[in-house]
Amino acid sequence: MQFVLFGPPGAGKGTQAKFLSEELNVPHISTGDILRENVKKGTALGLKAKSYMDKGELVPDNLLIDLIKDRLSQPDCRKGFLLDGFPRTIPQAEALDEILDDINKNLDGVINIDVGSGELVRRLSGRRICRSCGASYHVVFNPPKAKDICDACGGELYQRADDQEAAIKNRLNVYVRQTQPVLEYYKKKNILIDIDGEKEIDEVTADIRSMLADMA
Ligand code: ADP
Ligand code: AMP
Repeated sequence: MQFVLFGPPGAGKGTQAKFLSEELNVPHISTGDILRENVKKGTALGLKAKSYMDKGELVPDNLLIDLIKDRLSQPDCRKGFLLDGFPRTIPQAEALDEILDDINKNLDGVINIDVGSGELVRRLSGRRICRSCGASYHVVFNPPKAKDICDACGGELYQRADDQEAAIKNRLNVYVRQTQPVLEYYKKKNILIDIDGEKEIDEVTADIRSMLADMA
């Protein structure tokens, strides 16, 4: 199956993707994670993307479209995939449709995790990420068992540069201006599924689970 996890920064896409990719048995493809890995390794893509990411701007469409085209052509995507953080613009959504056409697949659903902006700021400013496995924690809402240590792999937790106040504000504005219009694109195709993301993590997981059961 092919799903997109959609929603503003901090909605809980990465948090829910973990269980969902296991449940569907498909790879979790987070464009943010892939870009951060490229920045860390200093690749040509990473060097081009870094300045946009630090400011909370979107990385240019052509770079993201090439990245996704390449990733979706990998053998592990034959059984399906879970996209997180892509598409974020109308040109990206159109390019995804073309890529899906080429590989004879279509989207089973776009899961929109809906959260208001006040809650997003609270979530992003308290977010901590594992340097090794990328797992997402929150200092209050989802703290690790031991301070600054990942429960899953023992890696060190850190705060993303773009989770500082100035970049958070910009990312939320960018979402409204450039990404929110994509919701309408999928609504028209009748594949948009709205999930109330303001609930607690386990409740959101339960709602996504029951949505999948309804689709089966
Ligand atoms: P996204 O991938 O959409 O940017 P994350 O999954 O990284 O968002 O979640 C953002 C922050 O909010 C993290 O610190 C995470 O632990 C926390 N979080 C995620 N879902 C919830 C929730 N339902 N309630 C409270 N905090 C949450
Ligand atoms: P995320 O981890 O999804 O919050 O993404 C972190 C940053 O990576 C974003 O603020 C953008 O700069 C960049 N990014 C991730 N996905 C995309 C995308 N689909 N289009 C453009 N930029 C992206």
